[in-house]
Amino acid sequence: MPPDSQNLVWIDAHSHLQDPRLAPHLPGVLARARAAGVRRLHVDGTCEADWPAVCALADAHPDLILCSFGVHPWFIRDRSARWLLNLRDILASRPAGIGEIGLDARLDDGLDADREAVFRAQLELSYELALPASLHCRDAWGPMLEILLALPPHPVGLLIHAYSGPANALAALAEKNVHVSFGGTLTRPKNARARENAARATAGRFLLESDAPDLPPTLPEDAEKHLIGDDGKLLSEPAYVPAVGQILADLRGTTPGDIAAQTTAAANRLFAKLLA
Ligand SMILES: [Zn+2]
Repeated sequence: MPPDSQNLVWIDAHSHLQDPRLAPHLPGVLARARAAGVRRLHVDGTCEADWPAVCALADAHPDLILCSFGVHPWFIRDRSARWLLNLRDILASRPAGIGEIGLDARLDDGLDADREAVFRAQLELSYELALPASLHCRDAWGPMLEILLALPPHPVGLLIHAYSGPANALAALAEKNVHVSFGGTLTRPKNARARENAARATAGRFLLESDAPDLPPTLPEDAEKHLIGDDGKLLSEPAYVPAVGQILADLRGTTPGDIAAQTTAAANRLFAKLLA
């Protein structure tokens, strides 16, 4: 990191610190995040079963952790009959957003119609309650853009995490108050689409994320690698966010300090209701 990267303030806009792969390492993960200048971590729930763990993290680290609750498109099969009421209840019980929710057309499990209904119900709830929502989208850009672009601008803001959609949709999404975030995939030199999106994202509408423990960055040979999963692959963690910010700065022709300031301001605006 160049000298001007020191003392910068970063926010990790999307992570899953409740994941069992990280649980035994959490003190180190949080200490490294703080040391790297990551001052806020947004943790997204994925199913009713992991919401209590997300609450426990936010309660244990109120100065650091913000949280959202939702049913992730991978886990709709696990939802209970009263899942939407349970979601309303938990959102009424504490400052929180909605997420992770979304569409994923790569699952091939015959549940796409069900998945879209679950997504739409949670998206509608984010409009009704005026809460930010965090979105996942994989290979479903046609339906995702059709849904989002038909809606009025979101009252608080939406975030499509690890954005891999078309660059030419970014401006229209920004007009709907839809933000995008960039993470480990941006560090992969062959990922031309992520790099083009990072260069073209609308000012004020982009953030940074770790998606910990998934989507790890490709680090330089000599960089320190902290946690390795059972599969031998690097686990992502918030401490890598500044490295993504450095690449984003290069792609946008600016400094890491400018990127830290822009992404932190955008995250503070988007997640203002989670800070209460
Ligand atoms: Zn995620």
